Amino acid sequence: MNYTAEDIAEITGTKVIGDKQRIIKNIAFDSRIIYSTKNTAFIAINTQKNSGEKFIEAAIDRGIEIIISEHHHPYYKNITWIIVENSVEFLQKLAKYHYENSHIKSIGITGSNGKTILKEWLYQCLWNEFPTVKNPKSFNSQIGLPLSLLQINSSHKLGIFEVGISKPNEMEKLENIFHPQIGLLTHIGTAHLANFASEEDLINEKIKLFKNSEVIIYNGDNLLVDKKIKTLYSSKKLISYGFKENNHVNFKINIPKEDNVVVKYFDEEISFPVHQRDEATLTNALALVTVLKELGINNKNIIEKINALKAVEMRLEAIEGIKNNIVINDSFNLDLDSLKTALQFLNEYNKPKKSLVLTDIVGVNSNLKELYEEVSELVNEQKFDSVFLIGNEISKFSELFKSKTFTFINTQKLIESKHLTEIENQIILLKGARKFEIERLKDILELRKHDTVLEVNLNAILHNINFHKSLLKPKTKMMAMVKANAYGLGSYEISEFLQHHHIDYLGVAFVDEGVELRKKGITVPIVVMNPEQHSYETVIAYNLEPEIYSFRVLELFYEAVQKSGYDKKYPIHIKLETGMHRLGFKDFELDELIQVLNNKNLKVQSIFSHLSSSDLPDEKEFTLHQLEIFNKNSNYLIENLGYSPILHILNSSGITNYTDYQYDMVRMGIGMLGESPNSEIQKQLRSVVSFKTVISQISLVENGESIGYSRRFKTDHPTRIATIPVGYADGIPRLIGNQVGNVGINKTLAPIVGNICMDMMMINIDHIPNAKEGDSVTVFNAKPTLKDFAGYCNTITYEILTSISPRVKRIYVKD
Ligand SMILES: *Cc1c(COP(=O)(O)O)cnc(C)c1O
Repeated sequence: MNYTAEDIAEITGTKVIGDKQRIIKNIAFDSRIIYSTKNTAFIAINTQKNSGEKFIEAAIDRGIEIIISEHHHPYYKNITWIIVENSVEFLQKLAKYHYENSHIKSIGITGSNGKTILKEWLYQCLWNEFPTVKNPKSFNSQIGLPLSLLQINSSHKLGIFEVGISKPNEMEKLENIFHPQIGLLTHIGTAHLANFASEEDLINEKIKLFKNSEVIIYNGDNLLVDKKIKTLYSSKKLISYGFKENNHVNFKINIPKEDNVVVKYFDEEISFPVHQRDEATLTNALALVTVLKELGINNKNIIEKINALKAVEMRLEAIEGIKNNIVINDSFNLDLDSLKTALQFLNEYNKPKKSLVLTDIVGVNSNLKELYEEVSELVNEQKFDSVFLIGNEISKFSELFKSKTFTFINTQKLIESKHLTEIENQIILLKGARKFEIERLKDILELRKHDTVLEVNLNAILHNINFHKSLLKPKTKMMAMVKANAYGLGSYEISEFLQHHHIDYLGVAFVDEGVELRKKGITVPIVVMNPEQHSYETVIAYNLEPEIYSFRVLELFYEAVQKSGYDKKYPIHIKLETGMHRLGFKDFELDELIQVLNNKNLKVQSIFSHLSSSDLPDEKEFTLHQLEIFNKNSNYLIENLGYSPILHILNSSGITNYTDYQYDMVRMGIGMLGESPNSEIQKQLRSVVSFKTVISQISLVENGESIGYSRRFKTDHPTRIATIPVGYADGIPRLIGNQVGNVGINKTLAPIVGNICMDMMMINIDHIPNAKEGDSVTVFNAKPTLKDFAGYCNTITYEILTSISPRVKRIYVKD
């Protein structure tokens, strides 16, 4: 977009204070990830949960000169204010105007699953056919969608936007802002179903997006969807896809596994290889083909585009580099949008100095000078220490870059220059088009190569949190349990990410865990569930909040508070015993508790309890009994304390099974890591943890030979055996050797044969002929899943995660 403040006021019926002629090209709503301040307005969005006005100061500190907010704060100088009545409605109004006055062709995607992946696939297939704009990440809500639409500029020809709703009556508002010409309805699942009276209501709500569409492409496997769309939209062009034969677009069946899949598109057949044959991927592939056909892409082109997709590894990864650097590797593709995303990502890290490696942007037809001017403006605002440009085109514009700038004709030349290996204590962003293969730089810059890693997908955590949040009332707070090193994944890294995403509380088990977080800069309130006797001074010194579960702890802690000279009411959390019989105050102790509390300078910040069996349907009666005791006893406390602390009792499966008892806060643990005992919920969650290693060696072992210690496995025919470098010292229980457990290679399970050694184990790969040395091996993630793996070990996923040895390198990715 490109408006003056005055234009915007006119469009939205709002008022400007200050310089009316300032130009606005971007609107930022998160002061922490402003990648460019020039022509950027900061909007303070007020929601039920948060007031964005808290962040105005931070935005102005970063250099923002235009603020959109519901109130004027006159003490900031030289700022243009757009004063609005309601920040969210303002954004929607502006977005509607902007969209309606653009000349793009638009695709609107909605459904329960697959929206983001389809949007990204479509984008990858189409961006070099038409200048294309899409939602950044999954910005698809009442706020996210308007912000996405505002990114449309005059050069765009196509817009691909996903639209998400979670409650009744939301779609109407969104459709009023955005009415796509082509509507795409993906799978309808059970997400958000709880907020609707029936599946039919959910469908009716979603398909409101297509009210003004010309074409509707939809997954017709769900017969109710098929019927609804046909009834409501009989006058529109309708194309259904899916596995069932009634669909216009489906698969030719009975294709052997190793052959190409064949899509039947009306009377045509289009065949291409697909490497992942799970149902979701295949269904998405059908949707993709259908949209591409609708946009007039020919079959040959479609096949090429789909083939190119398989190379997509669309992720930004942050890795620990040599010389205390952090390396952010984004060497998949390069265009302006993805550059912006990467610069945002960069700003989430706190390193004073940064450097950039950037290549030519390939495959664009626009004016190169304008393109690189825009690129250099974005880059200059970041104040990089050094900028390394690779490629003939971008090198021609090197004088546009204000940092120390070096140019190279190719990646090899940069490697030879040895510049990169001299960088110390910086954050280095590698951003390039695929053909430059700048991932080679990552290999050079990475601290150590680890064959065995535990990869943690932070965005999957966010997805899982948001999924659980979608079940809750907007006001309900959330505590994330990061005890035991965040269930083994790395307490600081996870907490820092959650803090960034405004988690309300963190929960740790012991004081040391809280101290570590404070020392590294975590400022969110932290509750210590089991504060040990001699640690109370530390609790206070580090501003941690103790769980108080007995009179002994209460007295000792209060003594420590008095000694410390703390002169306000210290926040504590009262644990009630309701049936778990672990820690907590019992019924008969309440009167005394009230008396003691009322005589002390302490503030009961929260009252809580813990469910022993929220995951077990058979224990519903017992759980309801626990909930009843909690209700009764917490009420009694509140009546006698004279104020209302935060109440909370639900853990992850409590959130999904006993949503009505959410009180003021819930405590998330395993659910955030993508695990649920309920298979319907499990489908809605994303897998967070991937334990991976590689094949060290493959041997063809002759018939009758034995494998490993104590000769527990003997071959009965010449057998291909692979050795992988993980063993019981890494946290793989020795009892899953001897064909109890499996690992995955190319999505195929391979049994562990013989006894597991300390640092290695052997697996049978006879049935996986294409496996090679150096290939990746999945200990758990998709196949086998963490749950499968826990099943081999005869235990629960919690124990598996917390048992992975610290020597297994944890790496964090955001996809
Ligand atoms: C660990 C823990 C949780 C989280 O439980 P999940 O089942 O992982 O969601 C919640 N509350 C308390 C008190 C805990 O100790």
